[in-house]
Amino acid sequence: MSMPTTIYPSSHPCKLCNLTAQAKHTIQDIPYYYCSDCTLLFNTYWDNKPPLIPEQIAVNDKRREERWPAGEADHMYEKGWETLECMGWPVAWWSRQVHARLKKIPAYQTWVHRSIKRRFQKVLDFGCGHGISVTELRNRDGMNVIGLDPFSPIYEPYIIRTPLITHRFDSEIFDAIFSIETLEHIPNILEIFRELHRILKPGGVLLVQTRRLEDTEYKAKQDKWFYLEGPTTHVSIYSEAAMRTIADKTGWDSVSFRGVRYALFKKAPDR
Ligand SMILES: [Zn+2]
Repeated sequence: MSMPTTIYPSSHPCKLCNLTAQAKHTIQDIPYYYCSDCTLLFNTYWDNKPPLIPEQIAVNDKRREERWPAGEADHMYEKGWETLECMGWPVAWWSRQVHARLKKIPAYQTWVHRSIKRRFQKVLDFGCGHGISVTELRNRDGMNVIGLDPFSPIYEPYIIRTPLITHRFDSEIFDAIFSIETLEHIPNILEIFRELHRILKPGGVLLVQTRRLEDTEYKAKQDKWFYLEGPTTHVSIYSEAAMRTIADKTGWDSVSFRGVRYALFKKAPDR
């Protein structure tokens, strides 16, 4: 099965602010459009295509194998905790280096984990992949974490294998949502952020990890940046300004940034 050839125009309305975005990089004949206003970089490859074709699952699996040939278990488990700590522990958010040093003290680590478990009673891993962090956070740490990923090959009751929008969670059920290396795969950005906001409790937090355009590797390599190597999987590349635009348009109280990969979106508490 192969995709019909698409002829792409040289400009496209920006997916966030609707102003005209111009083609900036063309990789494998697919243009990435850049909006000079909100500074989103995106392509339209997945627009109006069904999300669940086997071809796409195969591409994702292949890339995952190339990246983590020894399997992703510990890497993803660590990442899951790192993400929760960034959401829930002020030191981790202010300075990952200081936090990493303090974590060598077992009492500090226990204290952090206990406080995070207390604060985040119900957590969603949005784009959980093979569900390693979900499974381990549940089994090793007894946390109530569920995963969602239409591409997940794992059949477990706590892993939902349908797209977020189709699944229709109840409103305001999660204390926290984290999303690691997922947003770059999302074509319907505003719809997804509205939905994530809806399912979070008031005062809830969303922590996303995706490479942003502020990355020095992008500045140095441009078209050759590895994040743009897979235009059929990486369709949306964000910047701080793009994320601020998203926060404004989809109801968030604030968004703040940690390095060039993490962003923390907060939903306003009930007043
Ligand atoms: Zn824009």
